[in-house]
Amino acid sequence: MSTVTQGGPSLPQERRVVTEIPGPKSREMFARKQAAVPPGIGTTLPVFVTHAGGGVVVDADGNSLIDFGSGIAVTNVGNAAPRVVERVQRQVADFTHTCFMITPYESYVQVAERLNEITPGDHEKRTFLLNSGAEAVENAVKVARHATGRQAVVVFDHGYHGRTLLTMSLTAKNMPYKQGFGPFAPEVYRVPLAYPFRWPSGPENCAEEAAAQAIDQINKQVGAENVAAVLIEPIAGEGGFIEPAKGFLPRIAEFCKANGIVFIADEVQTGFARTGDLFACEDEGLVPDIIVTAKGIAGGLPLAAVTGRAEILDRIHVGGLGGTYGGNPLACEAALGVLETIEADDLVGRARHIGEVMLPRLRAIAEKNPIVGDVRGRGAMIAIELVVPGTKEPHPTAAGEIAKRCHAEGLLVLTAGTYGNVLRFLPPLVMPDHLLEEGLTILEKIVSEI
Ligand SMILES: *Cc1c(COP(=O)(O)O)cnc(C)c1O
Repeated sequence: MSTVTQGGPSLPQERRVVTEIPGPKSREMFARKQAAVPPGIGTTLPVFVTHAGGGVVVDADGNSLIDFGSGIAVTNVGNAAPRVVERVQRQVADFTHTCFMITPYESYVQVAERLNEITPGDHEKRTFLLNSGAEAVENAVKVARHATGRQAVVVFDHGYHGRTLLTMSLTAKNMPYKQGFGPFAPEVYRVPLAYPFRWPSGPENCAEEAAAQAIDQINKQVGAENVAAVLIEPIAGEGGFIEPAKGFLPRIAEFCKANGIVFIADEVQTGFARTGDLFACEDEGLVPDIIVTAKGIAGGLPLAAVTGRAEILDRIHVGGLGGTYGGNPLACEAALGVLETIEADDLVGRARHIGEVMLPRLRAIAEKNPIVGDVRGRGAMIAIELVVPGTKEPHPTAAGEIAKRCHAEGLLVLTAGTYGNVLRFLPPLVMPDHLLEEGLTILEKIVSEI
């Protein structure tokens, strides 16, 4: 029996380190994990969780960690959020599965209606549901190919879209995602991303030059008339929280529109209030033809969605889309609970507030510590990029060392980046301010020690 009986927001909102991290119980379970699970399934921090909620994760040894990860931008509403728990508990007792394609149920339709309403653009939309981000990205590409009768898919440097054959092919980074897993899916073309910190001629020219290069490569190497879809994350997630220079995304969207190319926004990591907008596309007023969502959609229950223009989605023949579990009733109830929570608790406002607390403190850390080359992000999707001081040379060992020391002090942070030199911060949007500040204080101390 655990000392705490319930997760969710009723958990004490405190950092508490009572053993070394990981403690003895976690170490024992980790040894079993090593024997039973292949090493390809990595572990960021080998503590075994028993409860989580608000801004903390509690482990089997009784340690309470400040959560700057949200299970990779999933628990935006917090773990075991009351509206999610209540709806899922009711649903699990009523029925757990029928297969929506066999005999439908209302909650799936409600989720589709809500997504059609709240995603960018007031055109007529349709939504269908799947189980994971990768599955949704695959379906978006499938739909775009069908709608256009074209095959090529254009993606960007530093992009991440998943681990299945097609989505791994769409992903930029070789190690660890692609190494040894080829051959990859054909008709995938990669073009430059407007990465302000690393743009050779500087951030001022980045948007214009990157867009010109991307468009030129599409025209010269692929032919715009062969492109079914351009697929992009409005802020690159795994690639290192790269916010493309302002103007880049609208220019790419405009090019798509002019050439009959389906513009797909992968908002799997950026969606559901994470960036201080309900969707990151809103920041520059982008209206994608298709938006793909997952992660934050259902508080941790497996759910993903493809939402797109009715005229694109209505062309697909009956039976052309689907899957056994897509839009499972528990996950749909959870998503409805998430959407209610975002609205009722103004989590868009909370995400903005988190950014307003974090960015100035991180900029102050960067000013004192030249190892921090860049501070960036929007809302509660914030990162620092570590470099060899005085240069822009990526410093992945520093990122790894800082993460390790944060973990030892009870602060869960994640790394990211094409060069592995980015620390990313994704607190649950319900994290209380005192934990946010305490986490930043720990980070400040550790960065200055490195
Ligand atoms: C995580 C992620 C995916 C893949 O989602 P899974 O649910 O892990 O399949 C796709 N795109 C982006 C931007 C992601 O962050």
